[in-house]
Amino acid sequence: MNDILVVGSLNMDLVVRAPRFPAPGETISGEDLAIIPGGKGANQAVAAARLGAEVSMLGRVGSDVFGQSLLDNLVKNGVDASRIQCDLSATGTATIIVDAHGQNSIVLSPGANGKVTPNDVADLPDAKILLLQFEIPAETVTVAAQRAREKGLRVIVNPAPAREVDPEFLRLADILVPNESELSLLTDRPVADSASAEAAARQLIAQGAEMVIVTRGEYGALTVTKNDSYNVPAFQVDVMDTTAAGDAFIGGLAVSLAEDKPIREALTYANACGALAVTKFGAQPSLPTRDEVQVFLNIHRKSSGG
Ligand code: ADP
Repeated sequence: MNDILVVGSLNMDLVVRAPRFPAPGETISGEDLAIIPGGKGANQAVAAARLGAEVSMLGRVGSDVFGQSLLDNLVKNGVDASRIQCDLSATGTATIIVDAHGQNSIVLSPGANGKVTPNDVADLPDAKILLLQFEIPAETVTVAAQRAREKGLRVIVNPAPAREVDPEFLRLADILVPNESELSLLTDRPVADSASAEAAARQLIAQGAEMVIVTRGEYGALTVTKNDSYNVPAFQVDVMDTTAAGDAFIGGLAVSLAEDKPIREALTYANACGALAVTKFGAQPSLPTRDEVQVFLNIHRKSSGG
């Protein structure tokens, strides 16, 4: 049986650095194009597989070179890609321009990700945990969560990119994992510190969510349930690039929970995964392996005298 099933997006990120953004109608020269596997679904699948879990992914790519390359990348990382269909649409892409100040401007083309239908998720394979994000159609996400609940899978939802959700959907998630800006968009209230994060998370609990884990970057993760709230602080590291910190965190959380670890231990493990991801450049290249996390945790336990 799989430990973790991911139903979600696969994108090819097309990244070019340029001195500045082109004006309308203008052509400018940039540096060499970087072609990098991405998509929140695929990133989280790879994150969990590198941490040693048996991971299967369900989704769609186009019948083009990017699609084939994304499938190869999953297989290379140990993810079972046999449930990914090749669609007649183009593979999902994110075309990213990065200017000299490191600002980016992105055009997302969902392509085949937008074609993942409720029918695709009608018959989910066995697993302990289902991981969902919001880069595939909303109705498909809902049906996947319903089917998973019926089959007894634990449902973890990363509501990214954020959109409004109805209370019925909130009740389908065992754990909701937004970052601060996603939490703010979900609840339509400002989230700037621990108190406002807790208040917003409480609003989701009042609407029917069971557990909300708010990732708070360098401050770690705040967990809120009906009767409890606690913060698990982040590890202190030298930050290189925060891309994919959330994906690493969610991969770590899912793997730890699939191994039946208690929630606080799982949160510490997830924080370690997020911390390691910010010490390296890039999205998937920065996702840590099981051994890297173990070494990191051993060092930190020693230095904290634990
Ligand atoms: P996202 O990448 O989705 O915006 P966050 O920025 O909240 O999510 O980061 C996810 C997790 O990664 C955090 O909860 C934390 O565990 C870890 N993390 C992120 N930034 C840092 C940092 N500067 N130092 C240490 N850990 C970090």
